[in-house]
Amino acid sequence: MERTDDLKEKREALASALGRTDALMDDFLSVLKQDFGPGNKSSRDFSSVAEKILPDEEPEPETRNNREPEDERFHMSYEALCSDAMGCTRCQLCKTRTNVVFGIGCTDRPVVMVIGEGPGENEDLQGLPFVGKAGQYLDRWLAAISLSRDTNVYITNTVKCRPPQNRDPFPDEKSACFAYLKQQIQLIRPQSILCLGRPASTLMTGQADSSMGALRGRFFFFDGIPMMCTYHPAAVLRDLSLKRPVWEDLKKLAKYLGLAPAGGSNG
Ligand code: SF4
Repeated sequence: MERTDDLKEKREALASALGRTDALMDDFLSVLKQDFGPGNKSSRDFSSVAEKILPDEEPEPETRNNREPEDERFHMSYEALCSDAMGCTRCQLCKTRTNVVFGIGCTDRPVVMVIGEGPGENEDLQGLPFVGKAGQYLDRWLAAISLSRDTNVYITNTVKCRPPQNRDPFPDEKSACFAYLKQQIQLIRPQSILCLGRPASTLMTGQADSSMGALRGRFFFFDGIPMMCTYHPAAVLRDLSLKRPVWEDLKKLAKYLGLAPAGGSNG
């Protein structure tokens, strides 16, 4: 997603520079079109064009310099980040949560970092991610490709507090929480990322308008880390026809990582 942001910024800067060049050309041409008599070139006044090229004062900084100050979370250790999240009030989800659900599992170069949408009811009550029915199903998926949250997987969500009635997190909530996720990735340095469900997949790929069907089964890169998107286990439990595409996605990820499928399917 950062690459997309970079590209967008470069395009905006280029468009802005081209716009300024275009305006200068207009000024330049208007000077040339002034009605001078023959041999009267010396009276042409280019000072207005020159002033624009070399203004007296430094121009106002453009939007790329008007960014918000860097988030302090980007300087925190894992422990400090976790402790900061426990008292976080950066979005309205803090008002309705029981517990902050920060993450669980291997924090040192896990083979896979699983990113879900947000804590559900059980997760909110226990303060742990993916502990309900969908979590148990996820554990079976992981086991099917020789992975486990006890050894080589880290699990977290896009937002660390439960959205009421399990609704999708709002954009401002995801945005307020995103620095936690980015810093978790920075500190943990997973070998790969597995996004579960559309909210996590669109956030991490930056493809806000894409459907889950369009995002699943493809490799993306987040900060240089290979990333696969697939359906959320809760969605598969509701619609068993999604089992096959999920299994295809998991096999693709396992092959990429050189993992041996443990046999069978994700069941
Ligand atoms: S969801 Fe994230 S940003 Fe919002 S209160 Fe919880 S920890 Fe803070």
